[in-house]
Amino acid sequence: MAKPLWIGGRFVDAASDEVIAVINPATEEVVDTVAAGTAEDARRAIEAANEAFPSWRRVPGVEKAGLLHEVASRLRSKAEELATTLTLEGGKPLIENRDEMGWSAAYFDYYAEIGRHCRGRVLPSIEDSQLSLVLKEPYGVVACIVPWNYPILLMTWKVAPALAAGNTVVIKPSSVTPLSTLMFAEIFDALPPGVVNIIAGAGSVVGDELVASPRTHVVAFTGSTSVGQRIAALAAPLVKKVHLELGGKDPFVVCEDADLDVAVPGVAWAALLNAGQVCTSTERVYVQQSIFDEFTTRIAEHVQSLRVGPGMDPTTDIGPMARAPYRAKVEHQVGDAVIRGARVLAGGRRPPELPRGFFYEPTVLVNVEPDMEIMREETFGPVIPIAAYGTFDEAIELANSSAYGLGANLYTHNAIYIKRFYEEVKAGTIWINDPLTDNDAGPFGGMKLSGTGRELGEEGIEEFRETKHVHWDFSMEHKMWWYPYEQYNRESGYLEG
Ligand code: NAD
Repeated sequence: MAKPLWIGGRFVDAASDEVIAVINPATEEVVDTVAAGTAEDARRAIEAANEAFPSWRRVPGVEKAGLLHEVASRLRSKAEELATTLTLEGGKPLIENRDEMGWSAAYFDYYAEIGRHCRGRVLPSIEDSQLSLVLKEPYGVVACIVPWNYPILLMTWKVAPALAAGNTVVIKPSSVTPLSTLMFAEIFDALPPGVVNIIAGAGSVVGDELVASPRTHVVAFTGSTSVGQRIAALAAPLVKKVHLELGGKDPFVVCEDADLDVAVPGVAWAALLNAGQVCTSTERVYVQQSIFDEFTTRIAEHVQSLRVGPGMDPTTDIGPMARAPYRAKVEHQVGDAVIRGARVLAGGRRPPELPRGFFYEPTVLVNVEPDMEIMREETFGPVIPIAAYGTFDEAIELANSSAYGLGANLYTHNAIYIKRFYEEVKAGTIWINDPLTDNDAGPFGGMKLSGTGRELGEEGIEEFRETKHVHWDFSMEHKMWWYPYEQYNRESGYLEG
């Protein structure tokens, strides 16, 4: 039987019999099926969240924090089961999914405390008899639309701050990885019914309903830039707040002073983690020309030593890609680059020993040109295209030569280069000598086509709090600037007598 939806604190059947078949990317076999929610189901979930909102927003901060800590603790006790399910449906090596569960639990703990501590403020008043308050209010119902590559982590980045701010939520997981998210029903059961609702279904059906409904008040979306643009357009007539975490094409600049014992495995990891299916994957590498040959030879050797295999095998470094069309896109981009003169130093094909599953060998490309698709469009696969640069000015220009601006990486100890890089490169996160590291307190998000808004940190909770200014005069005195204006003019000295 297909896994049901979770609405109003209980499992419910979908309005239609349609199901989503969840595929194991390492074997191409069906793992399980999930009920495909309809627009009507989405409306039910939205209503449940609206019903739960008035009392959830009034739950005292300390109590709310306790409940969110309880979510974190339940998540920790289910972490192994969740990580295994996520490897079966998404393909990531189990160790990476174990990390994902640990980080996600930490975010619930973090926002439990942030939510408890950060409120509004009291302003200096104009007169002694007045109080001027800045209130931070929840919006209402937040639609959380999540992709498949880090489905639990990215769900947490939305749900934890949204709840801590006093909103209720409807979560729509990707149809690629709905199983692990639906397992959260048991975890979110710690909260009052309707505070969290989970509904799987097609983006164009459930997703569109969540975005276009006047009964949702914020859309928090992580996914591709094209879907993000559609969501922004759909939400515009309602002037609904939309938070978009979108695609990327992150550069990695390796300077001449970089320690290659660190930089070679570091760049490889930044490009190949989760088979390159990370929004902040390194997708363009620029290496100073004096170390180019040594760097490319060493990274090709390193990449060839990595083991490709099923995510459940503890010896696997690189798992399968999540679905066949994502691999087909990588094959297209690599093929196009090779036809146009790129040279494959490693990989560049499906591993012959793994005929089933959506595997692709980690690939190193050189002789790449800026106008090739592989250097311009998001690849979202295990490919490391490397180009040489001469001066540091050139490196910065190349790093900025993208329509995206999610993250950017640098290996150097040269303080002048570092300062120039973080000031001049347009990206939401700059990593220096430590690629892809998240910090609970560090805001994360994109510039340019990579999105708007920030997750994590104090900025992450502000996305879900609306500001209201309250001006309160408790003297109840008549003010001179009210009608009649004749008196006002006289008292102001504009009228004689
Ligand atoms: P996607 O855009 O195809 O789907 C993301 C989610 O949106 C899914 O739940 C999907 O069902 C839903 N959706 C699809 N069409 C919709 C519509 N019309 N209305 C509403 N919802 C709709 O992305 P994906 O393939 O799941 O994920 C990969 C993409 O996500 C990559 O581009 C990657 O860079 C991006 N991503 C960005 C970040 C970030 O933080 N910036 C993080 C992870 C992934």
